[in-house]
Amino acid sequence: MTAAMPRHGSGGAAAALARAACAAARALRGRALLRGEAQARLAAAGAGSDAALQLAALLGRLRLGGAVAAGRCRRCGSGEAQLLRTACGACGSSRCASCQACLALGRSRECGLLVLGMPAQAGRGGAGLAPPEQLPPAAERLRRWGLSPAQSAAAASALAFLERPLQPPPARGLRPRLAALVRAALPSAGLLRLPPLHRGATAAAGRLFRRTRRHKPAEPHPSFLLWAVTGAGKTEMIFPLLESVLSRGGRALVATPRRDVVLELEPRLRRAFPDTPPVALYGGSPQRGEDGRLTLATTHQLLRFRESFDLIVLDELDAFPFAGDAMLHEAVARSGAAGSRTVLLTATPPPSLQRLARLGRLPHAKVPVRYHRHPLPVPRLLRTPPALGMAAAGRMPSSLRQAMARSLDRGAQLFVFVPAIRSAEPVARLIRKLFPDRGEVAATHSQDPERADKVVRFRQKQLRMLVTTTILERGVTIPGSDVFILDADSRIFDEASLVQSAGRAGRSAADPQGFVWFAAASPSASQKRAIRQIRLMNRAARKAGYLLSGSASSRRFHSTF
Ligand SMILES: [Zn+2]
Ligand SMILES: [Zn+2]
Repeated sequence: MTAAMPRHGSGGAAAALARAACAAARALRGRALLRGEAQARLAAAGAGSDAALQLAALLGRLRLGGAVAAGRCRRCGSGEAQLLRTACGACGSSRCASCQACLALGRSRECGLLVLGMPAQAGRGGAGLAPPEQLPPAAERLRRWGLSPAQSAAAASALAFLERPLQPPPARGLRPRLAALVRAALPSAGLLRLPPLHRGATAAAGRLFRRTRRHKPAEPHPSFLLWAVTGAGKTEMIFPLLESVLSRGGRALVATPRRDVVLELEPRLRRAFPDTPPVALYGGSPQRGEDGRLTLATTHQLLRFRESFDLIVLDELDAFPFAGDAMLHEAVARSGAAGSRTVLLTATPPPSLQRLARLGRLPHAKVPVRYHRHPLPVPRLLRTPPALGMAAAGRMPSSLRQAMARSLDRGAQLFVFVPAIRSAEPVARLIRKLFPDRGEVAATHSQDPERADKVVRFRQKQLRMLVTTTILERGVTIPGSDVFILDADSRIFDEASLVQSAGRAGRSAADPQGFVWFAAASPSASQKRAIRQIRLMNRAARKAGYLLSGSASSRRFHSTF
């Protein structure tokens, strides 16, 4: 430094920059953000400048690098197949690579920066999660949430998993049969770290990932499957889990595929955890810049976190967009902090996870009964021609017609599921023709601009019958509704889809029974498996004494085949 420079001013500026760099490092802990996102976050924290970012990186308190480098998107992990090379207005290159896979979160490109923060820290001063011994006994903690006996038992198992000390690091060595099992379970196995006996399989899964993806995958965190039937009240069960982590100074995330679930859950979490209010993140959410120890987010938002959470609760892991999306599976693994746990929440685990659970290789708990403690309606089979054939002929077999008439007579609203958009309106026309004076009938599907409006009218009972594709198989609950699935042998209706659709019936305590019909030209394997799964759950509920004594304890399975 020369004597001519204003010594104090320069020293003051340097100190200010150092402070800004430290503030930047703090604000970006546990994050993976594009430069613009990082700057917005820093501006909110009063530390926003490129110089602060650069100094923090030089000091080793965060990492800066190209968002796309060496043929891979560093934000989402996608490889060459997802990269598009085009002329770039930002850098002037004629072949600047940008990632198509994570485009929904802003463009990740070769000439843009990705800012990776240091791992988030749990506990005061980064001391880590406080040991569970400091908390009141689990049974005492569980009581405050007012859970049903079935919910309480499952939550207790999940809590024990969450508070168990970490297992020792994995032993190496490949076991061919287990490796085959894990291969069969992929991509779901990407979420799992198997119990110690079977770690060889995890290593095999890791090698598989390396072979197929040519980069080192994030190590999956230990997982627990909470398998709760439709209408079980799964949200309540995660409250004690979140409480365990939050009260020990940790950070928790609830990730769900659907934005409406985020919006619905946010006020409930706010009431349950007034001291650590949730930050709700989804595309365009107003809370994007905020930070909190409890985060509620749509699945894609996970890509903006790195080594951040001590507990990740994944809701509906089998639903779009999460199912089968390796990018999102890896995002889960990467957003977990060291020693974090993952709890998978679903009514319909994919067959691979069901198998691992059955074999005792995936810790899990089942909630086989709904909150109202009546058994699930068991679907009945009807033999019918294809839906479009019935629509073209303008008639349906009397068995189907009578079943619909019985549902209408008992005052039910009808969900009528069809496998394809092109079937929806013709089937609605057919029903209007056959039941001209039984209320309004509408059809909807993913391309229908009036879809939200129709769902509202169905909820308000202005619509009596709604013909729909699988878009309404989850999430929409209408008290007192019966379910008809036409072309139930279509490949669109797999076991999970059938169980979810059937799960629309009998949801309310006032009308807990409902009717579900699988109408098809032939009984497919998926139909049989769905019925079997529902019956097994009812049997488990009965055996555990979870059913109300007055409830119809065994609805025999009727078939017109
Ligand atoms: Zn990407
Ligand atoms: Zn560029």
